[in-house]
Amino acid sequence: MKAPLTQLAWETKQRLETSPQLLSDYASQMALVYLTATVFGFIVSFLVAKLYRRLRQPHYEIPARDVSKGHRWCITDIFPQPTYCNVSGKHIIHGVFCDSCGICVEEHLAVEANRTLLCKSLATHTENRRHHWIKGNLPLCSVCDVCHTDCGNRPGLGDLRCCWCNRTIHDKCVDNLSAVCDLGTYRNSIIPPSCVKLKLVGFKGRRHYVVDCVRRPNIPNWNPLIVLANRKSGNGNSEIVLQAFRRLLNPVQVSTNTSFTRYPGNTPFIDCLVMLRLVR
Ligand SMILES: [Zn+2]
Ligand SMILES: [Zn+2]
Ligand SMILES: [Zn+2]
Ligand SMILES: [Zn+2]
Repeated sequence: MKAPLTQLAWETKQRLETSPQLLSDYASQMALVYLTATVFGFIVSFLVAKLYRRLRQPHYEIPARDVSKGHRWCITDIFPQPTYCNVSGKHIIHGVFCDSCGICVEEHLAVEANRTLLCKSLATHTENRRHHWIKGNLPLCSVCDVCHTDCGNRPGLGDLRCCWCNRTIHDKCVDNLSAVCDLGTYRNSIIPPSCVKLKLVGFKGRRHYVVDCVRRPNIPNWNPLIVLANRKSGNGNSEIVLQAFRRLLNPVQVSTNTSFTRYPGNTPFIDCLVMLRLVR
């Protein structure tokens, strides 16, 4: 006595062998099954490849700091010029400075400054740009943009500098200057904060901002400068260059990218500093 399944298989075989019509039906059915399986396999592998690429993409994202959390502090043992604390107003020899907006404070007042003083914003929702005035600590030999005489040379935390256009003016001259900031001399290299859209990415606990998109501003010959540096190369002084550019440009234009080290050969071109012009 055969098992029912074996019996069924045997009967099917018998039927197929006796009828050529059934055999050709069977063959075409099998061909269809194979074809479907192949197409299905292709679709699955295509989807898997697409998903893999999407998962890999975060490696190429442009990180953006959350400016609402405070400034980007750098420690200095000695300020290169007479400096006054932006919180207490006292003369300070050493302390911390923000390399984005340029404020200087005593070490223990950094937390207070994070709370009370606004840093250079990377992205804004408003279209009309206003000057972002930083009080005091003007560069030596600054000239007022309104009355064209020396400013920032009195002792104490006085006079103003815009952290976007870098214009310097007297406290008393501020009302005589247009409130709209045109981003100054380097405007066609700067990405205006009103043109940057950020988005939150990452899972809980590791959520961070990245640049979502950049809109083209209404600036003639606009050609933004992108500054990337390899921290690991040379004598590790790339941070000094990055600090200088963060002060001049929108800080989202300036970043370090450790993935450079994975470039073949680590050529001198990539080794020190890369400045790209986005020509479009
Ligand atoms: Zn101190
Ligand atoms: Zn700042
Ligand atoms: Zn300005
Ligand atoms: Zn003036």
